[in-house]
Amino acid sequence: MKIPLSNPDITDLEKEYVLSVLNTPNLSLGPMLERFERAFAKYMGLKYAVAVNSGTSGLHLAVKSLNIGRDDSVITTPFSFIASSNCILFEGATPVFVDIDPHTLNIDPQQIEDCIKKRNSRIPKAILPVHVFGCPCKMDDIREIADRYDMYVIEDTCEAIGAEYKGRKAGTFGDVAVFAFYPNKQMTTGEGGMLVTDREEIYSLCKSLRNQGRGEDGGWLMHERLGYNYRISDINCALGLAQLKRIEEILRKREKVAQTYNELLKEVEEIIIPDYPDDFKISWFVYVVRLKENYSREDRDRILEKLRSEGVGCNKYFPPIHLQPFYRSTFGYKKGDFPITESVSNRTIALPFYNNLSEEDVAYVVETLKKIIVSL
Ligand SMILES: *Cc1c(COP(=O)(O)O)cnc(C)c1O
Repeated sequence: MKIPLSNPDITDLEKEYVLSVLNTPNLSLGPMLERFERAFAKYMGLKYAVAVNSGTSGLHLAVKSLNIGRDDSVITTPFSFIASSNCILFEGATPVFVDIDPHTLNIDPQQIEDCIKKRNSRIPKAILPVHVFGCPCKMDDIREIADRYDMYVIEDTCEAIGAEYKGRKAGTFGDVAVFAFYPNKQMTTGEGGMLVTDREEIYSLCKSLRNQGRGEDGGWLMHERLGYNYRISDINCALGLAQLKRIEEILRKREKVAQTYNELLKEVEEIIIPDYPDDFKISWFVYVVRLKENYSREDRDRILEKLRSEGVGCNKYFPPIHLQPFYRSTFGYKKGDFPITESVSNRTIALPFYNNLSEEDVAYVVETLKKIIVSL
């Protein structure tokens, strides 16, 4: 691939931090873990942060720490990465999907309200909104609905570090929020995630669950509850701390690449470019365009194939969760269940997007895309 879909941005600072850990005996549960967590909590303006070995582990702990289990249901979006829904299943609870706003691609608060009303007394225990592609959800509406029906809010901020809604960071609205640091995210630890909260009881429970259910003061072989090994090594934390130090620079670079795409693509009439409300601060995770309504999924798939054959990394973000084989066979979902999600999903094209993507490469991607669409 001449131009990959994503590419981590690792500088000497990251290498220096990682090496500094390798020069100590503390490769796990050491001081770098605490430094990373403290710096992250401070960045968020929240009291507590718990680093874990993936965003998925963090989401699982978030669900578990709110005591969501069998007989409970959680409202969430079918237009997301599978982990935001699987984490509900891990605890035996049921995801209740609500369709999206075609503009922001986030769960639609009006439809959340309609969904709850239709369920009469069976009120779901929580709402799990996903800030898709780094665009914040309308969190005041979601919080208001949650408060009115006495529901928890778990924010999946895995794609949205630094995004802001009405001047407030995504991840500060919920009872708990979870970030992810896989190498294609805005910042990476290799593999990793971070759970953040202002609630002390969630924090201490998640710290214990992360570490095999060990208690604060008990010994290494004292297990107070059923726990997991969701620990992240200090090596990963060192990488994360260095990336976090550079986060403003990273987000600025991504913003610039997105603006270059917007500028070059705005006159291509066959596609819809991301167009977010002016008062939202976007944290660009990916750059996803959409073909206009008159194009089919087959057209889109042909374009992806041709882009790849011309050396341009690309993908379909996201195939709807409810149409994944496991969800179809377990819950009986079928095509047509969530029409907006399906219609959007059939026509998306994620283009190469990373901090150091040059203007020349963006221009090459855009020219290649234009040429392919015209010759379809
Ligand atoms: C990346 C991501 C996750 C979790 O990621 P991990 O690969 O487990 O770190 C969860 N939800 C969304 C929406 C994501 O994009």
